[in-house]
Amino acid sequence: MTYEEYLKKREIMVEENSNLVGNVLNSKEMAVDKLLKSLKAELFDQEDEETLYKMNLLKNRKLWGSSLYSFIKEVPKGSDLHVHATALLPAHRLIDFVSSRADLVVDINDCHIYHIDEQCYDKACCCNLSQALENGLITREYVEKKWTLLGRAHNESVWEYFENLLGLFESIEYSEDTLFDYYVTAFEYYLENNTFHIEVHAVFSEDFDRSLVLARVIKRAYHEVKKRRNELVVSIICSGLKYLGADIEIPELYLKNALRLRETIFDDFDKDNVYPFIIGFDLLNEEDKSIPLKELAPMLLKYRNEYPEFNLYIHCGESLNAQVDNLIDAYLLGSTRVGHGMNLYRYPKLLAAFADKEICLEACPISNQTLRFVKDLRLHPLAEYIKRGVTVSLCSDDPVCQEHETLTDDFFAVTVCLDLDLSDIKQLCINSIMYSGLDRAQKSQLSLAWKKAWDEFIDFKYNADFV
Ligand SMILES: [Zn+2]
Repeated sequence: MTYEEYLKKREIMVEENSNLVGNVLNSKEMAVDKLLKSLKAELFDQEDEETLYKMNLLKNRKLWGSSLYSFIKEVPKGSDLHVHATALLPAHRLIDFVSSRADLVVDINDCHIYHIDEQCYDKACCCNLSQALENGLITREYVEKKWTLLGRAHNESVWEYFENLLGLFESIEYSEDTLFDYYVTAFEYYLENNTFHIEVHAVFSEDFDRSLVLARVIKRAYHEVKKRRNELVVSIICSGLKYLGADIEIPELYLKNALRLRETIFDDFDKDNVYPFIIGFDLLNEEDKSIPLKELAPMLLKYRNEYPEFNLYIHCGESLNAQVDNLIDAYLLGSTRVGHGMNLYRYPKLLAAFADKEICLEACPISNQTLRFVKDLRLHPLAEYIKRGVTVSLCSDDPVCQEHETLTDDFFAVTVCLDLDLSDIKQLCINSIMYSGLDRAQKSQLSLAWKKAWDEFIDFKYNADFV
């Protein structure tokens, strides 16, 4: 082989192996892609590589202040298909929300939030957050540290710490008024971050009536915001718990409640076009400490056969343990998408089946990083999954304790660490809509709204930078 032939072959191989998702770009988009590349280069000039690739978005202000971060924030992202109820607002926005409320107090030691009508808190240690900040009792940085994974000491178990963190926010659900305002604020925040559709994974309650109350509050808040911003669509994926030691009746109870809720509450914002509001069922918990799906399979199969149109969106593949093979069960049970699916690399045949059947992975890169499943996002397997034809949608998981800006952080991190270009970003946004759990008509409306926002974004960037 001559050197010229070698170079030609090399060029082909680089091209063959570099394509991620690769949607087609028009000439304006290609110009904006050049801008994206220049912003990436600018970021690499400003920050040393070692620090940059750590992607410590909870702490590294230089990253939020970068032009690339602003660009990614402005990208119309479509949907967030995997985010947990009461975890939607990132900590700094939750501080604003809690500070603005007379009905909430915060324990100044651990920053646990309480409703003033609760009996369980120590009044001597708790006060209104805005007063605590004004009087210098605590600082915003202190609260952010207490509310996020930033506060974890190196020797603390990350999952234990994480689960305790989520306990700090539970009182947001204590009063319907507080919860309603929380969701209004969160949905407006999502729109501000250019995400129009949210599939909230919600663990309501073992009690059906309480579950209905909570689901109704989310629906009321969603419709309140939708009056002003019609493009917003919110759906609920009811989630159940499958922690080790739980009776098999517990996951089944959550599933029964989900099915009852689905028949009770609908998205009837437009009375002439009523859509499902409860779109499916999920089972969660730290996977290594959960009942294996194979043990739940008899129960799940029974309902799958009886309600084949009620979709499963099961958390699994979020484990580094080689013996945890729940992805196989999720596939056999017909899960429409899976939450995470990180360890799909262990099962090459299953990986091909996921690609073939278009089972979308709800990839949550920042969550995987902050929960220590992958230390360096350059090694996150989602790049390979995409190259092998597996459909992926980027999701945020638990932004309250993991992210600086919900979903923006995930797009930003993979743009830098996996070297995405605009065509990849565009396809990930499209995937989030096409693989959402929405009804076809809703999906088509959402797709139109996204396309309009995308074209406006491209025009704006093109005109600002090239005219
Ligand atoms: Zn999750």
